[in-house]
Amino acid sequence: MKALLVFATLLVAVLAKDTFEGHQVLRISAKDELQLSLLRDLEALEHLQLDFWRGASDVNVPVDIRVPLLSLPTIKAHLEDNHIQYSVMIEDLQSLLDEEEEEMDSATRAVEPRNTDSFDYSRYHTIGEARNQTSAFILSPLTILSIIYQFQDMLVSENPSLVSKIVIGYSYQGRPINVLKFSTGGTKRPAIWIDTGIHSREWVTQASGTWFAKNIVSTYGQDQALTAILNKMDIFLEIVTNPDGLAYTHSNNRMWRKTRKPNPGSSCVGVDPNRNWDAGFGGPGASGNPCSETYRGSTAHSESEVKSIVDFVKSHGNIKAFVSIHAYSQMLLYPYGYTRTPIRDEQELHNLAKKAITDLASLYGTRYRYGSIINTIYQASGGTIDWTYNQGIKYSYTFELRDTGRYGFILPANQILPTAKETWLALMAIMDHTSKNIY
Ligand SMILES: [Zn+2]
Repeated sequence: MKALLVFATLLVAVLAKDTFEGHQVLRISAKDELQLSLLRDLEALEHLQLDFWRGASDVNVPVDIRVPLLSLPTIKAHLEDNHIQYSVMIEDLQSLLDEEEEEMDSATRAVEPRNTDSFDYSRYHTIGEARNQTSAFILSPLTILSIIYQFQDMLVSENPSLVSKIVIGYSYQGRPINVLKFSTGGTKRPAIWIDTGIHSREWVTQASGTWFAKNIVSTYGQDQALTAILNKMDIFLEIVTNPDGLAYTHSNNRMWRKTRKPNPGSSCVGVDPNRNWDAGFGGPGASGNPCSETYRGSTAHSESEVKSIVDFVKSHGNIKAFVSIHAYSQMLLYPYGYTRTPIRDEQELHNLAKKAITDLASLYGTRYRYGSIINTIYQASGGTIDWTYNQGIKYSYTFELRDTGRYGFILPANQILPTAKETWLALMAIMDHTSKNIY
């Protein structure tokens, strides 16, 4: 009995999720460079445990910060003392998370999908480790795969002549890093790469990636433009780019962004996998502090989630477009993030971005900003698409999907399908242009 009690206590401890009760997300508008630099200084104040959902970049771009309950009085007083304007975007983060979880629970209770037609693309799916299979999760976190992983296997078995699965590596905790390959034949055809979820908390991205995969198989042979693309090029799609992070957002902390590898000499875990690439690595716009959300890691490509893609891209050698998908902010960006030096192909990438966001807006009127990373969001070093561009992949883009901050990372599930569908139009513009301009 006693042993059972101990086990039950352990179980609760293991399953206890971080709570965000009373946390608010503040939207802060700096009116000049001085106010902006005051906001930047806040990033260094570790004891306040601020989480910059959108960092300080430019006086025109609002800064969104998640502030824990205990830090709220300090932060609000600081802002008011300095006459910095702010509003409360999210009043109580936990209540949004409770709603999200309730919706997911009701989805989990629904019949488990037997095939990709009965899969519910309009829901966020659990990683399949935490809820129903709690004891199994504790016994063996490495072997149980997520619902999204099951989806990938179903898609492959239903469409063996079009889709295959490649395991390009393993995450720190040992989860397979899967890439779906859509191909109508040939070897090492010119290819398009799309990844979602490298930042695990950006849930609308993995959900959209899942829909993209299904959409490719359902419209190949019907949609003329996609069919023409696939008859010439392969598409690689990595839906769960940060598997350990995604599992952790379900089991422990919905706000987890980084990888889950421990950092020697620090109690803080994880590296920002979008600061870990060998492109301006270690420069401004990334942190050397393991506790920071933008920690770059000890060396470039230190994270297996990043290194696996690096190795794959290099060994493939014929990738012509590389699209890495994030949320939120509604932006379509091209290199560079680490330097103000414009890329050689800026004009072409700029025009193509404009076409892509125009197509995107044609569906629901969703407005996107576009431009280079450094001029549109902020300086960021060690980013994915700066590296891919420097590898010679001309059409390198990154998306920031919906929304502009009303819900931020907690985008309601009823926006998944609209987000995926409109984003697909922009992806089609990029893929179409690439296939007609093979270099
Ligand atoms: Zn991101």
